[in-house]
Amino acid sequence: MTRQLTGRGAAPGVALAPAFVLETDAAGSPPPETRSNSAEDELARLHQALRTAESQLRELAETVAETVGEADAEIFEAHAEFAADPELASIAGEAIREGASAERAAIDAFDQFRELLLASSSEYLSARAEDLVDVRDRVVAILQGREVVVAAPEQRSIIVARELTPSQTAGLPRPLIAALVTETGSPTSHAAILARSLGIPAVVACEGLLDAVASAGDGDVDLAVDGRRGEVVVAPDDDVRATIEQRLAEEEQRRAELEALRDREGRTADGHRVELAANIGSPEDLPAAVEAGAEGSGLVRTEFLFQDRRTAPTVDDQVGFYLEVLRAFPGQRVVFRTMDVGADKPLPFVDRDPEDNPALGLRGIRLHLARPELLRDQLRALLRAGATAAQEDAGRLAIMFPLVATSAELEAAREHLAAVATEDGVDAGQFEVGVMVEVPSAALGAARLARQADFLSIGTNDLLQYLFAVDRLHGGVADLADPLEPDALALMASVIEAGHANGAWVGVCGEAASDPTIAAALVGLGVDELSMTRVAIPEVKDTLARLERGVCERAVRAALDEGHDGATVRAVLDRELDRELDRELDLGSN
Ligand code: PEP
Ligand code: MG
Repeated sequence: MTRQLTGRGAAPGVALAPAFVLETDAAGSPPPETRSNSAEDELARLHQALRTAESQLRELAETVAETVGEADAEIFEAHAEFAADPELASIAGEAIREGASAERAAIDAFDQFRELLLASSSEYLSARAEDLVDVRDRVVAILQGREVVVAAPEQRSIIVARELTPSQTAGLPRPLIAALVTETGSPTSHAAILARSLGIPAVVACEGLLDAVASAGDGDVDLAVDGRRGEVVVAPDDDVRATIEQRLAEEEQRRAELEALRDREGRTADGHRVELAANIGSPEDLPAAVEAGAEGSGLVRTEFLFQDRRTAPTVDDQVGFYLEVLRAFPGQRVVFRTMDVGADKPLPFVDRDPEDNPALGLRGIRLHLARPELLRDQLRALLRAGATAAQEDAGRLAIMFPLVATSAELEAAREHLAAVATEDGVDAGQFEVGVMVEVPSAALGAARLARQADFLSIGTNDLLQYLFAVDRLHGGVADLADPLEPDALALMASVIEAGHANGAWVGVCGEAASDPTIAAALVGLGVDELSMTRVAIPEVKDTLARLERGVCERAVRAALDEGHDGATVRAVLDRELDRELDRELDLGSN
């Protein structure tokens, strides 16, 4: 019998396929409570198991880096760090000395860490608690001599499970997975993040799922899934099947249409130019960004070069990476943001005091100015790479400073740049210098900053965080930080206007740029460049190509006049823009 269930949409797309219920054998046989060996032997077993788990997870991270992407691989690097955590090993070691078995000691130590995360009201941190379960189960499986393998379907299926851990998700054979549906879980869990990166539709928190599938019959049960709306239909009838099949055909056609846009420049229907660039987080992102038709990069997050290292990278190491990025985008602008690290992304080679509020602490340009030798090395490397790239006709280097709050900071950073250029005999004037506008004081002072810079780039992720006092890592309050709140949109409008009035071009490089409706609104406000996650580029390119600049201008004016919150601003934008577009604006976008 057909049953319709509703969960939370976690990754977009539709699917129709048989259900494959994943039996997760996380527990294995019940572990012994007390040790039968000496404490030394049991401790040795524990440490061996933790080391094995760590190396398995680092290997998994390498595989995921190659098959999915570097950003997703970090999930497993973080898991490996859990397994290597000395504090955890010491808590478990204490329990063993008091008589516990290695299995019991490991379970209790992981659970103790997990309780702390679960106690947080943050959906994000609670989701990290599930990651700990993944590592805990791996360690116990190793202690019990079991393989950590995931049963795989033999035909293309929709995976049904109570909960999926990130390593189970990464271990599933991608070509056989039509969609993922779980009874529990959250859209911010790492399993959901992986599903989005893999392009697999997913629904989480789908209550009643396992019972509905079990009671639908003994043999194969088909499911229909809509990962955007969070809908799951068990044993769909002919009408539902026909709808899903039609949507699958539409999605296929849409993919082909978008692919055809790859080599086209970003322009509105009447030819107004808007550069559509990709945000780059590591060298692994480059081929996919080029493939997606990115016109250079409006944000290279250089901090990845500095993290997870015991010593600072040398100038030569840095030049090598910067050149690799510049060579990927011949003739196009590549904006390197100087490393944006802070206490929440600590640098092991920089001594610093702990901070109660790291988001408000010594991060971004503040850290540069506190440790100018690091900044100078980075600027030296950037200038050398930029000069070599200019000779080779590779990409055009631009430098951007993060978290600028006052013009004095920008002035001080520019002085370092000028000094390094003089020392190296490089003409720094050939390279554009810009400022990230991600602190409200920088947005309000945009006119002054624009006079000191070639460009401004609005970082909506942090700007919204500081504007609405909403921790960007806190899922529970995230809805408050809507870029379409009238005051946020009006603030961005004022930055664009101030930039232009003072001779600077203005881009947007936060997540907001990847939403086609918001992108059209920003074009209506006069933005010159949009830099986004590469998966969003084709959709945004297509949307702009169908809209005249005047339509975008009228739509955003109407939205600012009539809208009184994020939802009404979006409704007015969609109403004004939909008239011009012969499709739903959000179809298939991320
Ligand atoms: C931003 O803050 O909007 C931004 C693009 O930078 P990041 O997300 O790296 O802080
Ligand atoms: Mg930022």
